[in-house]
Amino acid sequence: MANIAFIGLGNMGGPMAANLVKAGHKVQGFDLVQASKDAAKADGVGIAASAAEAVKDAQVVITMLPAGKHVLGVWKEIIPSVGKNTLMIDCSTIDVESARLAHAHATEHNLPSIDAPVSGGTGGAKGATLTFMCGGTAAAFAAAKPILENMGKKVVHCGEAGAGQAAKICNNMILGISMIGVSEAFALGEKLGLSHQALFDVASTSSGQCWSLTTYCPVPGPVPASPANNEYKPGFAAALMLKDLRLSQEAAKAAGAATPLGAHAESIYDAFEKAGHGGVDFSGIIKHVRGLAK
Ligand code: NAD
Repeated sequence: MANIAFIGLGNMGGPMAANLVKAGHKVQGFDLVQASKDAAKADGVGIAASAAEAVKDAQVVITMLPAGKHVLGVWKEIIPSVGKNTLMIDCSTIDVESARLAHAHATEHNLPSIDAPVSGGTGGAKGATLTFMCGGTAAAFAAAKPILENMGKKVVHCGEAGAGQAAKICNNMILGISMIGVSEAFALGEKLGLSHQALFDVASTSSGQCWSLTTYCPVPGPVPASPANNEYKPGFAAALMLKDLRLSQEAAKAAGAATPLGAHAESIYDAFEKAGHGGVDFSGIIKHVRGLAK
């Protein structure tokens, strides 16, 4: 069992840290928000006075923070306090460039590091069923895998530094585009007098089949567990989908890749958020799609 420092005890980090405690690790946590610290403490996480304090005796450091600037700021703050050979793991979803900078900073201090963003949302964080997409050396990945397995059911090595973030934003670009596509099909079906169930029964067993349809169907009825049956409560908030689409477009621009549908999906989610729906599940985009009809 390891001494683990966990920085960022929010909606995802809190339950992830709790699962490490459940697996028998000694976890020292830190967050800026008192309520997050209190909730983590109730789950058996030791609470430190600062991030630097939390990492003092850690063999493994995990960060789960909002964006690249937070990760770079925290890694710069804590790395001088981290012991030799401590494994640095960032599970936040951040831009590829910041992920590579964080790795470079760890390497300068001879510390192994992994970018390991997740898929699976808060349900996956609570249930320890997350998928981890990892970037870093084979040796750092081998060290990180058994720790990450306490918080998830699938841990994939995607390649060198930043490859985990690259896989995450490519996957979520598919998801954003496909959710809009499925929503457009239901909106068209409604206009054509087709029932939701009939379209679902055909498309879910035909070439239109995809996760946005069969697991996360944007209309109530065909998939009882989808947020459409729960007033589009997230789930995965539209603001987070917009964040990931923006990251995909920044990466596409920097790498010189053409992603016209990714760019369009970003603009559609941007309009949805600007209309005040950032907190709605991302499948709620169907309401926006219907509203575009002339
Ligand atoms: P959150 O806002 O609930 O948690 C982030 C936490 O980081 C907050 O509690 C905040 O106080 C803390 N924080 C910020 N700066 C800090 C600092 N300097 N020191 C210590 N703590 C600091 O966000 P979340 O939903 O837990 O998401 C975390 C990351 O996971 C994000 O990058 C997000 O994109 C990604 N993610 C979220 C989901 C989801 O469904 N919520 C799914 C996949 C990935």
